[in-house]
Parts: sequence; C-alpha cells; structure tokens
Amino acid sequence: MLLGPPGAGKGTQAERLIDDFDLPYYATGNILRAAIDGGTPLGREAHAYVERGELVPDDLISRVVVERLDSPEAEDGFILDGFPRTIAQAEALQDALAKQGRSLTAALLVDAPDEEVVRRLSGRRVCVKHNHVYHVEFDPPKTPGVCDQDGSRLVQREDDKPETIRNRLGVYHEQTEPLIQWYDERGLLRRFDGTRSPEDVHSHIRATLATLALEAET
Ligand SMILES: [Zn+2]
Repeated sequence: MLLGPPGAGKGTQAERLIDDFDLPYYATGNILRAAIDGGTPLGREAHAYVERGELVPDDLISRVVVERLDSPEAEDGFILDGFPRTIAQAEALQDALAKQGRSLTAALLVDAPDEEVVRRLSGRRVCVKHNHVYHVEFDPPKTPGVCDQDGSRLVQREDDKPETIRNRLGVYHEQTEPLIQWYDERGLLRRFDGTRSPEDVHSHIRATLATLALEAET
C-alpha cells in the first residue's frame, strides 16, 4: 500500500512496482469507476451517489475495494494507492484481508518535506497554446516564459500556485497523519525519502520488500 504527499514521487514508484511485480494496481478512483462501468451491485450503489453529485461514502468505497481484493486477479497480491484514506477504511481492509487469511505486507510512505513539494510543484509552467509542460528548474524552456515548440506564453496554473499547493498539503496532513500513525503502531509503516532520486527510492523500496518477504517465509 502506498502513501505520500503530492509531488513526492508516489506515482512514479507505483508504476515501477507494477512493472517489478506484475500485480494489479488499485487506486480508489480507478476501482470505483470500474465498478460503476461494470454495473456491479456495489457499482450501481456508488453510481447513485455520483449522479446526485455526492461523495461516495467511505464504507461503500471500502466494500468496492474489498470486493476487488477478493477476486482471482488479486490472488497473488495487489498494489493499493490512495486507499485506505481513513482509519475506518484501514480497519475494514485489515478485517477483509484477515477473513481471506492474509495481511498487508507494508504501508510504503514516500515522503517529502512541504517546502520541497512546493518547490517541485510550483515550478510547473504550461504554454497557453498547446499545454506543453515545463519546469523552471528541472526542465526550463530555452527562453524564460516562452514555449520552445510553438513560441506561445508560459503560465502557472492555479493548481500549481504555492498557496494552492500549501492548502492541498494541509488537507493531506490532516487526513493522512492519523493513518500513518495507525500503520506505524502496527509495525507496517516503512518510510522512504522522496527527495532522493526515483532510482534510489525504487531500490530502497525493493530491498525493503525483499526483506519483508524473507521475514514472512521464516
Ligand atoms: Zn507550447
């Protein structure tokens, strides 16, 4: 299971883990959409909320995810991203896995300090013509403020403004700190330094998972 603030590289690590282990990848949004599109009983229930423009309740999301974890494709394991989001969901997940006679291997936290997240995300610029993406520090255009490909102006999106990012981080911390603590208390939390290169973080995660697999065998 993956945890971490926006911009710390959790998504990149998820992609690598999918490649490494060839396991199904479950992000809450994807699972919910698949259930709704598939017209399963739980999917229809979720659809009713979406149609009314309401949030799908936590416990319904838990049931949708648990149903997928119980399916043959997840027999050898799975990668969870964005779920659980609350302690109630973490408990539901733990109970469901216990019923299946298995347990979560680890909660992998790819972490980065707020200021680093702001630096990474607020450096994004897009061109007004074709949305070509640049980064003032990591991928700058040849001429500052001008798109290399079409010469149009580069702007900072509302979502990439430092104050917007800080607000998102505030929400993230409020929601996620209790969950981090919950997994830490159960000995499942493993922390990774998201300020390191993606290669470093990846090899650190792989080594951790290998150790956990060895411990599970003995
Ligand atoms: Zn452009």
